[in-house]
Amino acid sequence: SAALVWFRRDLRDFDHAALYHALRAHRRVFCAFVFDTEILDALPGQGAPGSPRSDRRIDFIHASLLELDTALRSAGGALIVRHGRASQELPALARELGVAAVFTNHDYEPAAIARDAAVATALADSGIAFTSFKDQVIFERDEVLTQAGKPFGVFTPYKNAWLRKLGEAGGEFYLQSYPVERYRAHLAASPLASGIPPLEALGFAASNLAALRLPTGMSGGAALFEAFLARIDQYKAARDFPAVKGVSYLSTHLRFGTVSIRQLARAAWQRSGVLGNEGAATWLSELVWRDFYQQILFHHPQVVEHAWKPEYDDLQWESGLAADALFDAWCAARTGYPIVDAAMRQLNQTGFMHNRLRMVTASFLTKDLGIHWLHGERYFALHLNDYDLSANNGGWQWAASTGCDAQPYFRIFNPVSQSEKFDAQGTFIRRYLPELAQVPDKYIHAPWLMPALTQQATGCVIGDHYPAPVVDHATAREITLARFKRG
Ligand code: FAD
Repeated sequence: SAALVWFRRDLRDFDHAALYHALRAHRRVFCAFVFDTEILDALPGQGAPGSPRSDRRIDFIHASLLELDTALRSAGGALIVRHGRASQELPALARELGVAAVFTNHDYEPAAIARDAAVATALADSGIAFTSFKDQVIFERDEVLTQAGKPFGVFTPYKNAWLRKLGEAGGEFYLQSYPVERYRAHLAASPLASGIPPLEALGFAASNLAALRLPTGMSGGAALFEAFLARIDQYKAARDFPAVKGVSYLSTHLRFGTVSIRQLARAAWQRSGVLGNEGAATWLSELVWRDFYQQILFHHPQVVEHAWKPEYDDLQWESGLAADALFDAWCAARTGYPIVDAAMRQLNQTGFMHNRLRMVTASFLTKDLGIHWLHGERYFALHLNDYDLSANNGGWQWAASTGCDAQPYFRIFNPVSQSEKFDAQGTFIRRYLPELAQVPDKYIHAPWLMPALTQQATGCVIGDHYPAPVVDHATAREITLARFKRG
């Protein structure tokens, strides 16, 4: 009998739960990907107004599909690509191919859950089975619960329970890969697989992704991972400094499944357990954060629009023309705070932002500008290459102090001291704000303090070449404390 594997955020042909189960159970297995217009139509594109839409994520997916198709073809299969509403295209394709079953991997986002339910119903109407597997996380949904059988809402006890469970489940043994290779002969080609449509056919123009240092596809993910393993020992010490190559840069690959979470977690688990490697242990914690926010979203889909802490759902955020102008300044990297502006330029130019800076910019928007976290969350959602609803929502609510396991509202990041601490020489700032290149280290974190003569000598006149700060941090801090006290 024949089956169809529906690829979504799992664009690889190795260690793939749905692919493995389909190949093992069926003699002929087709593979498909749908460019879902329900998702594509919501993307505004990131080019100049009036120019064709472009989006780095679309380029990433496109390039990764080309590689996946090539890999499947070399093994006797091929990728069938459709463009339309997935909830209609997928059942139609399954009927056209005459398969008995569709296999896919779980997605925990509310919209994806609704889409999959519609697909399952449509397939059932045609007598086609729909089966989904855990693939993109190590532990999902109800697999890690409190002693009382409830989902965790606080990270550290969740992490301890997660690590305990993995140990009890056999550690490395539990994390072993699905041996897809063993059944590869069951991959089937189809005349419906006519290559990957060009970007233009999808209504997009190329973005600047190719010019960035983000390799795509399974090969790109593997190369980044290999390079990271050589420096994982230093992760704990280096991870907070945006000018240093300290983190893995694997988030976009994790988002689109061009790497396998099991392989990543296994490498970290082995190094942290057997070798006592602190860098690997810290990095494994980050992978646990990822599982944590996925299960939060699954159990509490209301966080998409609402504060996790109900008492903060009605906070009186700033609004009106002045707030709009401040929001625009934040988006356009013109707040006058160099660390915030450099970070926003990194995001706007590359689609990536270092984790420390995501915390700093999110704190700045919500605590210094008093703007609702949802506005920032949506801006990040449009621009981040690794945008993931669960992690982004969790990160924003954490920074805004409205989230689960939130930092308390009275702990407010000072953008100048964050800058001094994590970019002491202003190396990162100067990389993205060349207008501050000549500013002495002493003033790089707060250039408005430069004497007029120094401003002239360095070619950076505040208010002319670089903006004056849009708010005074000390004043903004008091306003925020009052806002939260009112609740
Ligand atoms: P590494 O430091 O190498 O970490 C390895 C992996 O662990 C990451 O790739 C990611 O998958 C996971 N991870 C790390 N930190 C977190 C975290 N706090 N929560 C969940 N998973 C984590 N991450 C996203 O993947 N998508 C987002 O849309 C996103 N939005 C964020 C928004 C805010 C306001 C904040 C504070 C954080 C956000 N993060 C998001 C988490 C984190 O900043 C990124 O995962 C990380 O910067 C990606 O770089 P990396 O792959 O080099 O990370």
